[in-house]
Amino acid sequence: MIELHNISKSYASTGRSRPAVQGVSLTIRPGEFLALVGPNGSGKSTLLGILAGTLAPDHGEIIGRPRVSVVLQTVALDPLLTIRENATIFARVFGVPGDEIDQRFESLARIATLSDRADDRVGSLSGGLARRADILRAAMTRPELLLLDEPTSGLDRTSQAAVFEMLESLRKDHRVAIVLATHLLSEAESADRVLLLRQGRIIREGSAESFVAELGFSHVLHVTAGDAEAVDLPDAVKYARGGEVFFGDSSEAIRTEADRLFEQDIPVATRAANLADVYDIEFSSHTSEVSA
Ligand code: ADP
Ligand code: MG
Repeated sequence: MIELHNISKSYASTGRSRPAVQGVSLTIRPGEFLALVGPNGSGKSTLLGILAGTLAPDHGEIIGRPRVSVVLQTVALDPLLTIRENATIFARVFGVPGDEIDQRFESLARIATLSDRADDRVGSLSGGLARRADILRAAMTRPELLLLDEPTSGLDRTSQAAVFEMLESLRKDHRVAIVLATHLLSEAESADRVLLLRQGRIIREGSAESFVAELGFSHVLHVTAGDAEAVDLPDAVKYARGGEVFFGDSSEAIRTEADRLFEQDIPVATRAANLADVYDIEFSSHTSEVSA
């Protein structure tokens, strides 16, 4: 559907040494769900801009011109207009035939579970509903590729889940390919493919499951930083996040050690390894990449 070949992009201020996107090659197929994951400044938004056609790459080749719609970090709707008015105006501007607009709107409002709010002003909606209305708006042109830049930032878990359900329906009913930039690993876990970005390069690409399988450990034990010394797991992979220290090892070693610590009244938690562990290990010394 769209292929990027060896794409690079610098901004005037990023300097010659570190382009915002560097040597990225990528193929997106119909109906696919891709997650772009990486620290702030790793090039997620720039890559979305290139896919959207709003940013021209300095180098490289783009093959394929699918119909693209974009959902930006801030809701792109007029708060004084209703959901229906916003969607209708957007559809007209982008050339959707007038006799199709109503039917498309009704169908998308159902997918967004916004049918009963269609004639409410956007300004009166909660953040989660406004976000779904914004995605509805973007879907009015029947995009083949829907790009979303951190669409759930600031939403509570329930609203976040509702946005994801909507995206899943769009993918099923309309075979829309979705590229989602996020720093939430739990969101990326549901993608078909995760692209880990660092300093504008794709450093890893695959399913969340394959990344976790490559970790070399299946389970994780965590303790507060103050209790880390008490942990006796010499073969474990050790890493930290916030005030916690994590030990990755086999499920059996973790269980045995958790029991031993529990006997000593040391509070521990154990769980299966997940994408957040992959990320923490990959980026432990690169928490933020925004150039000062
Ligand atoms: P992300 O979305 O992952 O946070 P961005 O694509 O926004 O990353 O940014 C990648 C790099 O490009 C960063 O170093 C950022 O500071 C720089 N950058 C992004 N947009 C601009 C811009 N409009 N002008 C100059 N530099 C920019
Ligand atoms: Mg961004």
